[in-house]
Amino acid sequence: MRKSNFSAGPAAMPEEVLVQLQVACFDWRGQGVSLLEMPHRATVAVDLLEETRQLFRALLNIPKQFQILFMHGGARAQFSAIPLNLLGISRKAAYLNTGVWSEAACQEAQRYGEIDRVTGLDPDSALSRIAESQSWQLPPESTYVHYCDNETVSGLEFSRPPQIDGAPLVADMSSNILSKPIDWRLFGAVYAGMQKNMGVAGLSVLVVREDLLDQAMSVTPSFLHYKTQVKCRSAYNTLPLFNVYAALLMCQWLDKQGGVEAIQLVNQRKAAKVYALIDQYPAFYRNRVDKRCRSVMNMPFALPNQALEAAFVTDARQRGLINLEGHGSVGGLRASLYNPISEHAVDLLVSCMETFARQHQEYL
Ligand code: PMP
Repeated sequence: MRKSNFSAGPAAMPEEVLVQLQVACFDWRGQGVSLLEMPHRATVAVDLLEETRQLFRALLNIPKQFQILFMHGGARAQFSAIPLNLLGISRKAAYLNTGVWSEAACQEAQRYGEIDRVTGLDPDSALSRIAESQSWQLPPESTYVHYCDNETVSGLEFSRPPQIDGAPLVADMSSNILSKPIDWRLFGAVYAGMQKNMGVAGLSVLVVREDLLDQAMSVTPSFLHYKTQVKCRSAYNTLPLFNVYAALLMCQWLDKQGGVEAIQLVNQRKAAKVYALIDQYPAFYRNRVDKRCRSVMNMPFALPNQALEAAFVTDARQRGLINLEGHGSVGGLRASLYNPISEHAVDLLVSCMETFARQHQEYL
């Protein structure tokens, strides 16, 4: 048993997955060698990749006209790879801006083409709120419309994908992939860094519609070139098999929980408990996101002052609740309740928050 009840930080792994990874580091499937020593072109490696791909496809019901790639470099690598591969001859795309990560993706894409940055938030709302899609000025000639489905830093999530006509959507789902079903009819591509709901940092997963693969710019580096990676079954360069195995174990774990629809209900229950507590003490726990756009994965909140926040972190740590500090760029606190965080752990967090608030009656 680990000492902590949960790490509500940048990644979360179920204990049983950690134990299986530990075993694989020492002895890969009884072969007397570590997974870390396996050559990536060996049959076992190819089989591992295929098994992971198939289970991931099944969990998210990904239609066969979409290719699934595991690629080096996390989500930021896809910030470059997406425009390089998908901007096409017009080199024009629209990027919906709703926060830190959609802005970072937009800035990267601007290196490669003519990018329209479209304000996705409602300027008239005091709280962060996603604007009605009719108010977005989307240029008609965009080859795709990029958005971030869950803004990890501010805790803002699309409850359903943006409703737009024409161009396919391209989504960054780094912090909520595998937390809910995806309506693939709307998408040209979906990508995610894998360290939240799908394993460990270093790889990204990309799901891309096959008919979009013939328009990459000639300068696209080979390892970021989708068609090259499709031909090589994701193994153009040496793939970190450990990360792929972690993804397989995370998918198997999710499958055992009943799959994506089942975990979505659990996630909604977990989030509802934390938001209910925040709303019970609004002067103490301050969340700046409109209720309709609150993230099911990440709940940022601030206390009346930094000294209280530090005291809260210490208090929570003593109860085995760790990594509750907010993102470095904004401070405050944040609970990230990724798939593996149990309802029991959330109950502990809520009780910790409640006790802490009551101990500070002067602010309530
Ligand atoms: N997009 C989102 C939504 C994220 O949350 C993150 C990381 N937290 C990134 C992109 C960047 O991911 P990576 O560090 O894997 O490049």
